[in-house]
Amino acid sequence: MILARLGSLAENPEPLTLAELPVPEPREGEIRLRVAACGVCHTELDEIEGRTPPPRLPVVLGHQVVGRVDALGSGVGGIREGDRVGVPWIFSACGRCKYCREGNENLCPWFQATGRDADGGYAEFMTVPAAFAHALPEVFSDVQAAPLLCAGAIGYRSLKLADLRDGESLGLTGFGAAAHLVLQMVRHRYPHTRVHVFARSAGERDFARELGAFWTGDSSAEPPEKLAAIIDTTPAWEPVVEALKNLEPEGRLVINAIRKEERDKDALLRLDYPRDLWLEKEIKSVANVARSDVRELLALAAEIPLEPETQEFPLEAANAALRELKARKIRGAKVLRLN
Ligand SMILES: [Zn+2]
Ligand SMILES: [Zn+2]
Repeated sequence: MILARLGSLAENPEPLTLAELPVPEPREGEIRLRVAACGVCHTELDEIEGRTPPPRLPVVLGHQVVGRVDALGSGVGGIREGDRVGVPWIFSACGRCKYCREGNENLCPWFQATGRDADGGYAEFMTVPAAFAHALPEVFSDVQAAPLLCAGAIGYRSLKLADLRDGESLGLTGFGAAAHLVLQMVRHRYPHTRVHVFARSAGERDFARELGAFWTGDSSAEPPEKLAAIIDTTPAWEPVVEALKNLEPEGRLVINAIRKEERDKDALLRLDYPRDLWLEKEIKSVANVARSDVRELLALAAEIPLEPETQEFPLEAANAALRELKARKIRGAKVLRLN
């Protein structure tokens, strides 16, 4: 399924088209995989609608890829044909800059993203540098493993940045693929923490309660207590402004979004310094993922074990999956399944 032209989903509800492409050949240091499943991420909408546009078109989207190795490029060791691997958003980084040297390769100026800067997993085959493919715990099926690679890994990074201590209250704004995995991680790692979920859709709120949220409410509802940290996974500004007033002194807001939409940006003008920002509140964004995030999350996911809620679509139905995501018809994670 290729993306050939950018534009809003409202104007073009079928942005991806089915096409026959040559099977890619792995170059030096690369492997080729036969794709079994690929998760659908909100970032695909940001690419299609031009908020983080691919540098070249057409491109194959998809950065939560599970497949089996079916060819090795020259110089590849430690991985064999038939091995099951996952490919996350990080496709490559330079390995030499100060960010890479300090383990923060997610901030590398030469960061390349799977399914944006290189063809991704909305296809039968893809190639990737072997060093950026990850072995997957056996407890997860192909479809279950897919959302761990972005929703899980970036959710894990957000939780790290939230710097929570057990017993401190946490807020989640939006309850999609990432947040439903974060909630499960929190219950395991911080058993005394009460999780408060703010979501516009009643379906998302119901699902959050099923998974053990302490309290749920609409994005502008007032929670029963102030929160030590809030992780925002929405594409909008309103929840950011609403979240800040719910933070305790020195509370932390972590924004887990590669881009925000412009629609409701004037909500920012309602920011009230003493109420929303004073008392040493912090705002931080989360950017990309490092391989260490993916490795740590996969180990934690197997230990808990995380139970990703997935909704399967055939590859050819990728447009329908993306439209549902845009309309926030969400319960857990959407995953494309290949035959
Ligand atoms: Zn993603
Ligand atoms: Zn670098």
